[in-house]
Amino acid sequence: MPGWTVRVVPNLYPVFEHHEVVVSTPRHVRSFAELRDDEIAGVAVAWRERSRVARDAGFPYVHALLNEGREAGASLPHSHTQLAWFEEAPPAVLAERAGGECSMCRHLEAELASGERLIVEREGLVLLAAYGGRLPYELLVAPREHVEGTAFESDLLAPALGLVAEALRRLHALEGPAPVNAWLHDDGHWHLEVLPRLTVFAGIELGAGIYVNSLAPEQAAAAIRDAK
Ligand SMILES: [Zn+2]
Ligand SMILES: [Zn+2]
Repeated sequence: MPGWTVRVVPNLYPVFEHHEVVVSTPRHVRSFAELRDDEIAGVAVAWRERSRVARDAGFPYVHALLNEGREAGASLPHSHTQLAWFEEAPPAVLAERAGGECSMCRHLEAELASGERLIVEREGLVLLAAYGGRLPYELLVAPREHVEGTAFESDLLAPALGLVAEALRRLHALEGPAPVNAWLHDDGHWHLEVLPRLTVFAGIELGAGIYVNSLAPEQAAAAIRDAK
């Protein structure tokens, strides 16, 4: 029996001053999809503890992410996530900030009313095929009701990561072990965005900023809903 469950180590190839790798489990599993619930809970605890250390060290925003598969930028074949410590919220998060009412609440209200892109609603969380997804099977996991405060301190974080794992399991059943990027946007009504990389970004996407998605999110939702 190994003497540890989740292990946090500095990234060997740091992009930022503080860039950590959270090794999900001592078991040799390649994908977040293969983690058990207790292992996912351990990841959430590690994220929480490191985010506290980061905050105390003057890095109030921690960017938590999952890169899995070579095509998605992963250099380790063993399941892991990463934490990059930032002194302020990064541009993608700032771009989602809007004044006034919560745009995520408005979005979820519309999505739950339509139901077309809803995959699972459970434990106060929803899993949706992203409206206007950039790539096939782009997904969103968010608390059903409005939340304030950091995701790292939320009891919903572990079940939210569990939904990501379940979505990936279902995706693997449909498409095989797809490379994937996923990340937490920890600002206001926090959420997780999951971007499977079944197709690559090329000149149209990178140069023109136009994303050609061959799978409608309604079809993606139906397929993932039906997958085992
Ligand atoms: Zn909200
Ligand atoms: Zn976001």
